[in-house]
Amino acid sequence: MFIKTANFIGSYPSISKCPPPQLPEYAFIGRSNVGKSSLVNLITGNKGLAKVSQTPGKTQTINFFLVNDAWWLVDLPGYGYAKTSQKNRGQWSKMTADYLEKRESLQCVFLLIDSRLPPQTVDITFANWLGASGIPFVIVFTKADKNSKNELASNVAAFKKEFLKHWETMPQYFITSAEKREGQEDLLSLIDSINGEIA
Ligand code: GDP
Repeated sequence: MFIKTANFIGSYPSISKCPPPQLPEYAFIGRSNVGKSSLVNLITGNKGLAKVSQTPGKTQTINFFLVNDAWWLVDLPGYGYAKTSQKNRGQWSKMTADYLEKRESLQCVFLLIDSRLPPQTVDITFANWLGASGIPFVIVFTKADKNSKNELASNVAAFKKEFLKHWETMPQYFITSAEKREGQEDLLSLIDSINGEIA
């Protein structure tokens, strides 16, 4: 998919304030500092679109980016950061849970996992919650450039093993690096093919 336009449209504090659900929507979520802003910038080919933040856990709004006037890229707040726990609900906010459970135009969640780390309980808990809630999702391993091939393979295998303790199949997954600009085409083709199915 060629990105002609990608624009930030707005930040919303709840699902009821979000734009009307008229276009297919893809939500990005992961632990704070997982590399979400960098990945959003990579996918849209716009370095400054999502702020690459050094202070994790600040954004507690649902951020909407309109891509090619055809679909929404939705940037959800990071979870798993201690300071966001006032509205704690299993470490992700009620706003996030509401959006994910109720947003009718949501096609797929991109769950970002830091490929440098062994499986993190909060990530596995979140993936299990998505599965149990029947929300379609894929896994996106980030920061692949920071690992050797072996470390990467072993962290991916460990995540799979952990996930497969609860589920019969591993969701589709992608290996990405914003630093090396790797993975954006695969993610965009998935979005393109889902957009094509529902057009
Ligand atoms: P967010 O909090 O999930 O939005 O994460 P950011 O995109 O702000 O990234 C957090 C930190 O990780 C920043 O210092 C980024 O420069 C760094 N980072 C993000 N993606 C990559 C990547 O693919 N490779 C490397 N080496 N660093 C990355």
